[in-house]
Amino acid sequence: MSVNITVPNRLLRGFKKRALASDVEVFGFLIGNLIKENNILTRIVIQAIHYPKVLATKGEVNVLEKDRDVRRAVAPMLLLGSIHSHPDIEYDGISTEDAKDGARRGEAVFAVYHIWPKEEGKKRFTRLDWYVGAPLGRVKVR
Ligand SMILES: [Zn+2]
Repeated sequence: MSVNITVPNRLLRGFKKRALASDVEVFGFLIGNLIKENNILTRIVIQAIHYPKVLATKGEVNVLEKDRDVRRAVAPMLLLGSIHSHPDIEYDGISTEDAKDGARRGEAVFAVYHIWPKEEGKKRFTRLDWYVGAPLGRVKVR
């Protein structure tokens, strides 16, 4: 059973642009809707990214807005999950904190934008990973 994720390119371009211009983690809430068929989730439709106030460092981000306030503000759309960057990553994958935060929020979808350190004369290497409703034991956690 697979779940499709639909996300407008302009939203991803906007996120990547912010993340590449930032020395610290960039964080956004993914807003949209879930489509179910026969009560089974088949599609995650992302319609907006809300950038909350945060305190961020290179390895950590503290969101200063409460999930329930965001939920209220975006209704009738849903708070589906979040996306954040790992600038100048030192490892590949997600952190235990990332997995815990995702589980705590009950995120349907979760994305991490890896940005490797820029090497002289080379194009910067990046990768965007999506995680869909993955319980802790099934994703690569470090
Ligand atoms: Zn992270």
